[in-house]
Amino acid sequence: MNIFDNQIPLEKLKLNEPLKDYTYVRIGGKADMLIHPTAKEEIIKIVEIGKIHQIPLTVIGKGSNIIIKDSGIRGITISLSHFHQIKVSEDKIIAQSGANIIDVSRIALDNTLTGLEFACGIPGSTGGALYMNAGAYGGQIADVVESASLMTKNGEIMNITREEMKLGYRNSIFRRDKYIILEVEFKLEKGNKDVISSKMKELTFKREAKQPLEYPSCGSVFKRPEGHYVGKLIQECNLQGTRIGGAEISTKHAGFIINANNATAEDYLELIKLIKKRVHDKFNIYLETEINILGE
Ligand code: FAD
Repeated sequence: MNIFDNQIPLEKLKLNEPLKDYTYVRIGGKADMLIHPTAKEEIIKIVEIGKIHQIPLTVIGKGSNIIIKDSGIRGITISLSHFHQIKVSEDKIIAQSGANIIDVSRIALDNTLTGLEFACGIPGSTGGALYMNAGAYGGQIADVVESASLMTKNGEIMNITREEMKLGYRNSIFRRDKYIILEVEFKLEKGNKDVISSKMKELTFKREAKQPLEYPSCGSVFKRPEGHYVGKLIQECNLQGTRIGGAEISTKHAGFIINANNATAEDYLELIKLIKKRVHDKFNIYLETEINILGE
């Protein structure tokens, strides 16, 4: 049976697919059905069929900011990582949502466009970066995004301006309203290639020095509470190196939890709970998670 009337080629569709292979942290149960669309028409078809058959839909990008629970995701999981074209027009770049934000920042460099240097080491997709309003070293997506095209859960396509996205610290309207981000338009400025390139090198050096990039992780687990650094709070609770199952609080950067040895989602979530409790007990500060927890 092909509920998609053969409009989604079978090679783009996988049943009972382990999702750990699609996340940076290498954790997650199976998707009932995982689809890798490469065209807008295919995404429209998936949404339409999902609506007719009342099948829940979940969207993932590069999986660098998600923990998928051990029982996996019911219904259809749409991975947008094969929907990844990037176009440049003068000072604008339009990227499909599955394009690596790192590739978009490299294309900006190739075209002597400045503004996306901060994103040169963020390991997610363009859609995921907009969803999270990703940022680093003083820059954020909100500074450079102009507009985006989205699909609503009814399959309608609409455009949205930066103001309408309500971008805040690791926050956006997309975290509340379940749109599928299709394309993102960035407005950059003409710059100097050597300056852009050396800024990127400097930020890459800083990132490699501070982050445990040699282990699978999902980046910073918690949002920064106003006036504090998460890493310092966790360090002062003497929690670095603490392990639950295969999940460990990084000794290099306390804000990261690494998958040290075949961790499960449950290990991760238990460790998150422990950190929240210890930080709350010691400092009376409630840590909010930045990462997205998906599935059952
Ligand atoms: P995913 O993890 O796949 O998804 C994240 C959320 O976005 C999910 O809820 C998903 O449903 C939703 N989503 C994804 N794509 C779409 C779409 N097209 N339409 C609708 N919803 C969508 N983040 C920073 O901000 N700054 C950093 O410096 C940084 N450094 C990191 C370093 C490491 C080593 C790692 C592992 C992560 C880091 N992150 C950082 C976190 C992460 O890379 C970013 O949040 C990234 O933007 C997430 O993109 P993604 O494609 O991986 O999203």
